[in-house]
Parts: sequence; C-alpha cells; structure tokens
Amino acid sequence: MKRRSGAVPAAWCLACLFALAAGAVADDREMVSEIFRTALAEGRTHQLLRELCLRYPHRLSGSPESEAANRWVKTVMEERGLEVRLQEVMVPYWERGDTMVVEVAVDGRTEALSALALGGSVGTPVGGLEAPVIEVDSLEQVEALGETGIEGRIVFFNRALDQGRVRHFEAYMGAADQRVSGAAMAGRFGAVAVLVRSLSFLDDDYPHTGGLRYEEGVRQIPAAAISVRAANRLSLLLSASPQLRVSILMNCRQREDQVSHNVIGELKGSVHPDEYITIGAHFDAWDVGEGAQDNGSGSMQSIEAVYLLQELGYEFRRSVRVVMFANEEYLVGQPFRGGQVYAEEALKKGEKHYAAIETDAGAFTPRGFGVEGPPAMVERVRSWLEYFDTDNTVHYVAEGGGGPEIWVLNELLGTPTFDLRTDTQRYLDFHHSDNDTFDKVNRRELELGTAAMASLLYLIDTHGLTEQPDAER
Ligand SMILES: [Zn+2]
Repeated sequence: MKRRSGAVPAAWCLACLFALAAGAVADDREMVSEIFRTALAEGRTHQLLRELCLRYPHRLSGSPESEAANRWVKTVMEERGLEVRLQEVMVPYWERGDTMVVEVAVDGRTEALSALALGGSVGTPVGGLEAPVIEVDSLEQVEALGETGIEGRIVFFNRALDQGRVRHFEAYMGAADQRVSGAAMAGRFGAVAVLVRSLSFLDDDYPHTGGLRYEEGVRQIPAAAISVRAANRLSLLLSASPQLRVSILMNCRQREDQVSHNVIGELKGSVHPDEYITIGAHFDAWDVGEGAQDNGSGSMQSIEAVYLLQELGYEFRRSVRVVMFANEEYLVGQPFRGGQVYAEEALKKGEKHYAAIETDAGAFTPRGFGVEGPPAMVERVRSWLEYFDTDNTVHYVAEGGGGPEIWVLNELLGTPTFDLRTDTQRYLDFHHSDNDTFDKVNRRELELGTAAMASLLYLIDTHGLTEQPDAER
C-alpha cells in the first residue's frame, strides 16, 4: 500500500522499524505520541467526515440514502487496503414525510412551534388534529391524572434536563423516558398526541428527534419533539391560557423492514490471523442535520485509526476488522440489529474475537476509555495511561465499556469490549437535530479522538490483554 512521505520523522521511524524487526516492543510512549502528532498534523478524519456529510448527510436506517452511504464507505475502506464485504441486516424503515406543523392559536393568530416527529411515530389524520393541551413533567403524572385528565388532549411532556448533572448522559437518561415512553403512556389514557420537550441543555430553537417505543395493545398516537425554546413558549402560553388549543399535522409513517448492511473491512494479522480485533461505530444517523457528531465522526475515526497505524508502518499482529454497523438510532422490536447479526455470525463461524472497540461519543477531546473485562484487564489497560499526555488527552480508564454494537460479542463470545470517552459537555447541543452538521466539528478534537482510538488499538494488539506472553499462547 502507498505510504505518505514524511508521515514519520526519519530518525524515529528507523529506530521503530528496527525494534519491530527485532521482535521487540518499540518505545510505546514514543509510538503513542507519534500517533497523536501525526493525527494532529496530517490526519484526514476531518476531510473524510466532510465528504461523508456533504454526500450522505441523511443515513436513516433502511433508507435508500443509508444504502448509498454504505456503498461509498465500502470504496473508502477498499482504497485504504481493506478487504471489504457487506453483511446483510434486516432493519426497520420509518419515513419522516414532508409535513411537520405544530401551531398554537394566540390572540386570534397562529404561532408555529419548531418541531420534529419522533422516530417511529405514526402520522396524524390527513387533515391534522387539534386539541387542548395538558402540560406534565413525568409519566407518573400522566398515570395519576388518568383518563379524566388525559382523554382527548395533547399531552405536553416538559421536564427539562437536570442541569446539575456533571455527566451529560445521566441528565439525558433522567429525561429520556418522556421521549421513549411518553406516547405509549399517554395513549393508554386516551390522549390524541404527544409533544415532548427536546433533550438539550441549550435554550435554542432546534428540535431534537429520537426513537420512541409504542406498547403492544395501546393505540398508537402521533408524537413530536419541540425545541426547548418552543417548550418554554408553550408552557408560558398555557400558564396564561390553560384552555389553549394546539394543532398538529405530520405525515410520517412506518414502512416495511428493509435489507441493509454492516460494512466490514478486514486486514489480516501477521502473528494471529485467526484472532480478530473489531473497531467500529454505528454508521446510521438521523435524517436531520448531517449525523456529523452522531456518528459520522466515530465511523470515520474507526477507519482512520487503522489507516493511521498502517501509515506509521505498524504491522498488525491480529486481524483487524473495521465495521460500520447498521441500525442503532431507530429500533423496532429487536434492538441493535447490526451488532446482533455481526456477533451471531461470529458465533456460528466459531471465530475468535480478541477485543472490540467502538465509539459513539461525538467528535470531542478524548478523555478516557471504558473497558468491559475482568478487573485484572482493566488494571492492565489502566497501566497504559503512562503512554498518554494525560494533562490534555486520555487520563482515565473506567470499568464497564463498549456499546450496543459490540456488547453482543461480549454476551455471546465473552469478548472484552472498549469504548472511547470524550468531553461530552456539548454533545446534546447537536444530538439528533439539524444542528448536528460538519461545520460544528472541531478538526483538532476530532483527530485527537482518532489518535486515542489508534493508540488503544495499537496497545491492545502489541501488549495483549493478559499477562500471558504471545509466544506461550
Ligand atoms: Zn449515536
């Protein structure tokens, strides 16, 4: 394969190649800092992400756009010397449609509220619907209000994210039940539709979509997210006029399941070709914005992390698989079908999966790694922190790690799983919204993430995950 000239400083390169040739472990601190230096100075994750976002911004599971993106990413991986195949995955397919209107009547005029249908939602009747609104802040409140309080109304879930949480994900999980289960709960008591405050810390006008889950046997009612600004506005209007009526018109719909694919690129290992290290990310994205942070960045980082090591002259001991997983964002019934199919095939073929790394944490400065494995393994990975610039990049290793795409490997084959942890304070500013576009991605933070993943991959492959030396295995 073609190597870029000047990718490695000549002096270090010779020393490193000599060390590798002699079968010794090169100076790992030097290697890791070289990975970071090269990624920052010459990394091409940013360029690749730009192309993805320009060409295939909408990659919703099951859509023709997502399949076109799969074909593109296959050629990208082939250009980088990987042997690529498409693995068939049946995925759900939901269409947003072209109409989404939420209006409120105020003083004889109508005012529009910024809204996005929730993924999986049914549409309204053709002419739309109009009803009074009841504002609530929890599923429990809906249950307590019962049919008398809920029937015939639009239920407006307005519980904000808890700003007091340091970890964005805890705040997110603390409010996400409204989006995921609000329609099912309100539908049970005869509501006609649901509006949900967006899961964002920002007080802006971007609505944030996301998946919902209906309940079997409960009438399916339309559900949409409204922006934080719209939620604050609606709440204010309701406090002045509780009898206020809101109209909703949306033509989204669920369609038949479609054939989609995991895109798998493989590179043969030189010492243990029958052992696999998987590095990947979910490649599907919402049909709004460009899926830049979620998860174009993680996808392109996975590809470039492997390429970066190749370009630095590193020869993988184990076989490496770069996987663009199908179907994470939007689920019906059986969850995360991309990861499921990948792990089931591995089990059937009796493959040995040594480790799996994924990322879905946005293009932000890397801070740590999560590890799902025995305590001794977590400790071993923790000892590698000495190779990193811990003041500015990776500085912790947490117990428990991986992600929905690779946890199935852990369940079925016992594979240790890893994930990249980033500084996620701004993640929800973009998540699942029109604000998730390429121009918001910081090139240096993105390339640092690639470097962190490449370093982890390198260290796992070189050192192994247990004390046992490779020669004895
Ligand atoms: Zn994601």
